[in-house]
Amino acid sequence: MNATNMCAEPIPSGPLARRASRGVIVQHGARKVQVGGDAPVVVQSMTNTDTADAIGTAIQVKELARAGSEIVRITVNTPEAAAAVPAIREQLDRMGVDVPLVGDFHYNGHLLLRDFPECAQALSKYRINPGNVGKGAKRDSQFAQMIETAIRYDKPVRIGVNWGSLDQALLARIMDENAARAQPWSAQAVMYEALITSAIENAQRAEEIGLAREKIVLSCKVSGVQDLIAVYRELGKRCDYALHLGLTEAGMGSKGIVASTAALSVLLQEGIGDTIRISLTPEPGGDRTKEVVVGQEILQTMGLRKFTPMVIACPGCGRTTSTVFQELADNIQTFLREQMPTWKKEFPGVEAMNVAVMGCIVNGPGESKHANIGISLPGTGESPAAPVFVDGEKVATLRGERIVDEFKTIVLDYVKKNYGKQPEII
Ligand code: SF4
Repeated sequence: MNATNMCAEPIPSGPLARRASRGVIVQHGARKVQVGGDAPVVVQSMTNTDTADAIGTAIQVKELARAGSEIVRITVNTPEAAAAVPAIREQLDRMGVDVPLVGDFHYNGHLLLRDFPECAQALSKYRINPGNVGKGAKRDSQFAQMIETAIRYDKPVRIGVNWGSLDQALLARIMDENAARAQPWSAQAVMYEALITSAIENAQRAEEIGLAREKIVLSCKVSGVQDLIAVYRELGKRCDYALHLGLTEAGMGSKGIVASTAALSVLLQEGIGDTIRISLTPEPGGDRTKEVVVGQEILQTMGLRKFTPMVIACPGCGRTTSTVFQELADNIQTFLREQMPTWKKEFPGVEAMNVAVMGCIVNGPGESKHANIGISLPGTGESPAAPVFVDGEKVATLRGERIVDEFKTIVLDYVKKNYGKQPEII
């Protein structure tokens, strides 16, 4: 490289500064989760059980919280569901799960919050969809009724707009305004404007009713990646409310994960977003906690937060003749994640640990040396030995059938030595 190709300044790294936002406290008992302000981006999730099934819902909330969800939303759609909310809360408290619960209300939220005061009290936050609070003259009074309940019980609220349920009266108004323009905007631009206007006008209305600005979170969810980026960039410019970020109806499997990651990564890199939820459609019989894991992995791989030790694994290629290294990488990743509920209490800092599992000598030793702990398995034609590196130094060479167990023992020893007391294997 000649001198004229070099930058005069070091190449910058990392996301842009976080957009300034109001910090909103979502609280249950002593557990306080701050969304926005100077808090790290919060991971939240939503159950898919029938809320009227208090035990089933409490079990799923516990699973989501154990996976790392810092806030869990439950639908509150019927009198039976509203009646079950206090029982869900009590059951969680009995199990030692203090994750704050958010009630998701549509159509009848004003009635359910009025008729079930214990539900209103047990929830830590209310989600209100301004497109689904009523029509015509009733709309304003029903919205006000919900906001007044939030004020009475000192609860924050998310004004959650969704383009699948946009306030039709507001959309008609924005379309009329557009028709009066000398050069009308595209239908897409009108839709963006309607989403943002709905969120901000309803937040302002809530403030006029008396809800503090620090009690309001906004969201404007759409299902297209470019649409979400465009809407949140503009929403972020126009207000300083905390923002809940998520691609709605992201879909199933890799499509849902990729679409969510693509959309959220762009926005998070620009400092937009205070809490995220990944709206994955579970595979039949699939695990609901996947949405929590994906949310954490987006934040961790972007370097925004640390949740679980990361496993760096090569993809494998023609140099690997067996699946040993794939199995080892999967085994270690699962092992580390399973330990975390215990480890994060007993070994603070362990979530920053990196573990490399590599398939051959080409990149294996080099990548392993960069990690806290790394193992380079033998590729085709290499001697059947797996060197292990700890903090850049080769400390052992493993062979034979027990490589996985022996490597786990080395990981455990490292955790014990570097992060605190003797770890318990769950
Ligand atoms: S480290 Fe070796 S096995 Fe893994 S992808 Fe690279 S060349 Fe292939």
